[in-house]
Amino acid sequence: MPQHTPPRPICGHCDGFPTVTITTGQTTAEGQRKTITARCPACHGTGHTRTSTKAVAA
Ligand SMILES: [Zn+2]
Repeated sequence: MPQHTPPRPICGHCDGFPTVTITTGQTTAEGQRKTITARCPACHGTGHTRTSTKAVAA
């Protein structure tokens, strides 16, 4: 399988999952679960890092 697309720099903070829905445990007036969406602070919900050409090897 040829790979024409270069590997994208996936955010190491969220591992490519920038938004996470968290159940608060409370329910709304309609009986639905109240959820909040948390964004990754490192990539701001993009899932990818915007590093320069020089990648930092940890
Ligand atoms: Zn992230």
